[in-house]
Amino acid sequence: MNIYNTLTKKVEKLIPNEEGKIKMYTCGPTVYNYVHIGNLRTYIFEDILQKGLEYIGYDVKRVMNITDVGHLTSDADYGEDKMAKGAKREGKTVYEIADFYTKAFFEDMKSLNIKKPSIIEKASDHIDMYIKMIEKMLQDGYAYVSNGNVYFDVTKAKNYYELSGRNPEEMKVAVRDDVEEDTNKKNPGDFGLWFTLSKFQNQAMKWDSPWGIGYPGWHIECSGLACLYLGDKLDIHCGGVDNIFPHHTNEIAQSEAYLGHKWCNYWCHGEFLNDKQGKMSKSKGGILTINRLQEEGYSPLVYRYFCLGSHYRKPLVFTYDSLDIAKNAYQKLLQKTSKLQEEGQLDSQSIETYNEKFKKAIEDDLNTSMMLTIIYEVLNDKSLNDKTKKELVKKFDKVLSLDLLKEKTKGIEKEKLEYINKKIEERKKAKQNKDYALADKIREELLKENIKLNDTREGTTFELI
Ligand code: AMP
Ligand code: ZN
Repeated sequence: MNIYNTLTKKVEKLIPNEEGKIKMYTCGPTVYNYVHIGNLRTYIFEDILQKGLEYIGYDVKRVMNITDVGHLTSDADYGEDKMAKGAKREGKTVYEIADFYTKAFFEDMKSLNIKKPSIIEKASDHIDMYIKMIEKMLQDGYAYVSNGNVYFDVTKAKNYYELSGRNPEEMKVAVRDDVEEDTNKKNPGDFGLWFTLSKFQNQAMKWDSPWGIGYPGWHIECSGLACLYLGDKLDIHCGGVDNIFPHHTNEIAQSEAYLGHKWCNYWCHGEFLNDKQGKMSKSKGGILTINRLQEEGYSPLVYRYFCLGSHYRKPLVFTYDSLDIAKNAYQKLLQKTSKLQEEGQLDSQSIETYNEKFKKAIEDDLNTSMMLTIIYEVLNDKSLNDKTKKELVKKFDKVLSLDLLKEKTKGIEKEKLEYINKKIEERKKAKQNKDYALADKIREELLKENIKLNDTREGTTFELI
């Protein structure tokens, strides 16, 4: 498997610490609002990475956090607490907010066929671990206490800039005019490990600690959960590109300070989903959710298909026009796969050939558009019988997870799909016979049943309206 590593800035051969096993950590959402489709692009990428690795034979143990404490409106240490802000907005407690949006996140994952990581843990449930790590960092001189808060001293970290490729000047975020300067810090780039009540008087989630009542910084939670559940060596750590700095940079600094050795070998980042204004982000507002897309007639798997069409390391611009193209293509694909019969003998030679091709696409830095191309190649291969095609589609869908052969595809039942396909076929024949009256009649009849036909260059597709 070759994968791009942000740490070395190159595509590298993946060599796990333990043969055949991958320990993978993926940053989870801050649950103060619905996740938007940009966040979900990152989670889809991570899902494909996990399933791709499993497909080529690795045993993957994956951990994800749910951030319910410590994440301020800035990724550095200034601004309001995101959870408190969400609670205020909705007149609820932070616990209610966390609970509600965690459930909503799980529902989104389910509707997108994203496999739940084997371990998903709430940040607020592991305070003891963060305290243990912070105590060790203080002991070893990586951290210091100042005015009740504990900070990590970035000048003590080895290769602090390696992951981001930044220079020290850029890092002085806290001396920018628009940013409140934290005079407790020794160096402007230092970051908080533990905040006491000195910062937020009415912080809802707070715990006792050797430094007073307070709460942990955002970055320590991921280091804490990763070390607790995956041990002292990680193979892969993922997130979106905005996590590279400061979040992942700080995770490396703290984890390696705590462990005393190199922590994670491969850092994999998904590029943004952008809208016309730039990065889609929760704090900017105007976000699109999976529910919203559903209300507008796009099934969640249309969005998954849309994401798979482009490489995870390329920014992807969201427009309804491109989503419509994905919708048509996906529906056509479903039409084709739903027609596959159980007839014929399995052609094991062809299965082997296509399977190898599919594995190569995975191993080529997760080439999802190539994976889709291979599915089309299989479906269009006249030398293959239906049974063989079906077997290959079934195999590939373990990674793609587009419900290509499910009895009941999301939002559309198999019988209905067969009925629509039959009608489309009848209409095609009518048109070939120049019986346009019959063709129009079939279209209108379907429309009455809320099935709209679209004639495209590649053939007729349909949508449920
Ligand atoms: P957050 O809840 O803001 O911590 O974000 C959760 C995950 O979504 C992180 O891994 C982010 O890097 C990622 N993310 C945030 N915005 C976008 C976006 N517009 N496109 C892709 N990924 C994003
Ligand atoms: Zn994280």
